[in-house]
Amino acid sequence: MEIKIKFELLENWGELPDLDVLLVEKAISISETAYAKYSSFHVGAALLLENGEIVLGSNQENIAFPSGICAERTALFYAGSQFPDLKIKKLVIYGAGELLASGAPVPPCGACRQVIAESILRQGEGFELLLIGKNKQALRFVNALDLLPLPFGFSN
Ligand SMILES: [Zn+2]
Repeated sequence: MEIKIKFELLENWGELPDLDVLLVEKAISISETAYAKYSSFHVGAALLLENGEIVLGSNQENIAFPSGICAERTALFYAGSQFPDLKIKKLVIYGAGELLASGAPVPPCGACRQVIAESILRQGEGFELLLIGKNKQALRFVNALDLLPLPFGFSN
């Protein structure tokens, strides 16, 4: 058996389709609401639901470190609680800060990958993932589930 991941690297997210550009702009904008007192790493997430609704989230840290939450989980859990019957079509994550000086797109942490995977398994359909860096680069995954092959809870 072999697992392969395919993704696309774009040098400038401005070249994306208009709807994607809108989502990127919203992710960048919401990253300014991050409470990133400890990491100085500001992350914003924008997710598009099947009815066109856009849900936003930013990372919210806490002095008791495990109590904080990443931007993408903020958005995914909000969508799951407010719109439980609507499918997610696309997720955009933007991150920037001193933690990673390169400004390159930041892949989600392991915990977020598990939540992304369960969101996909829950709705029975994959969704696109765009990772955006301060350096303007974008990584595009056709199906976000590719980021976590064989997630916990998955059985084939
Ligand atoms: Zn995370």
